[in-house]
Amino acid sequence: MTAPAGGWTTGTIIEIDHPTDRLVRLRLHVDDRVDHMPGQHYVVRLRAPDGYTAQRSYSVASDPDDPLLELMVECLPGGEVSGFLHDIAEVGDVLELRGPIGGWFVWEGDVPAVCLAGGSGVVPVVAMTRYARRLGLHDLLRVVAVGRTWSELPYAAELQRYGAFLALTRENLGDRVAAPPYPAEMETLVHGAERAYICGSVGFASYATRLLQESGMRADAIRVEQFGESG
Ligand SMILES: Cc1cc2nc3c(=O)[nH]c(=O)nc-3n(C[C@H](O)[C@H](O)[C@H](O)COP(=O)(O)OP(=O)(O)OC[C@H]3O[C@@H](n4cnc5c(N)ncnc54)[C@H](O)[C@@H]3O)c2cc1C
Repeated sequence: MTAPAGGWTTGTIIEIDHPTDRLVRLRLHVDDRVDHMPGQHYVVRLRAPDGYTAQRSYSVASDPDDPLLELMVECLPGGEVSGFLHDIAEVGDVLELRGPIGGWFVWEGDVPAVCLAGGSGVVPVVAMTRYARRLGLHDLLRVVAVGRTWSELPYAAELQRYGAFLALTRENLGDRVAAPPYPAEMETLVHGAERAYICGSVGFASYATRLLQESGMRADAIRVEQFGESG
């Protein structure tokens, strides 16, 4: 199936909350919405009264069946767009949006897959897990989520509740001492997976690619989405 692609439209903020002091979760009603596939993203464009614009990409966290589009944004220090969405945006605001976008980093529930996501890189993986749960495909999807601490990892409780393996690097979690995931922890998760999805910062993506290959994943089966700087 070809991934759907949408053009420019507008979205109205229906709900907004701050799960932690660095995160903002937005739920939007999108006009003429094109159904997305899990893993796709939207571009958000902000426009100043003088015509200056800034646009950034944000992955969709919601299941395609959800009537609202959910985004989870990490507020970066000095971040132009994330700072606006975190500090200023409010219910009723209308945002310019383009999407859904992306045909490579999507999971249709067609193959057994393993996801390795770091920090806000969990967002598209959350859409995949929600989709898998709704369709009863959860056995096909294994998720490893890596964060510095529990409170800094978006959707930590939801991911853990639905069987993801969580690795915190700066905080112990139960019996697991703070550390990135080890190849030995990955091997059973990788076993039988026909595809891998990696999502996170540029540094995380290169670390995760090495880790998955050391754990037995074929290089040509790995799909990567990097949340690097975007202009
Ligand atoms: C396909 C895709 C999907 C994405 N999905 C999400 C998502 O779901 N949630 C989310 O929070 N972000 C996501 N991002 C990142 C997002 O697009 C922005 O890069 C991020 O919000 C920073 O934008 P800003 O305008 O706030 O910061 P800027 O004003 O662009 O930069 C502020 C400071 O942060 C640094 N910086 C910029 N971008 C990053 C980054 N990504 N990581 C670390 N430092 C950075 C800059 O060097 C600068 O010092 C995604 C990126 C891509 C390409």
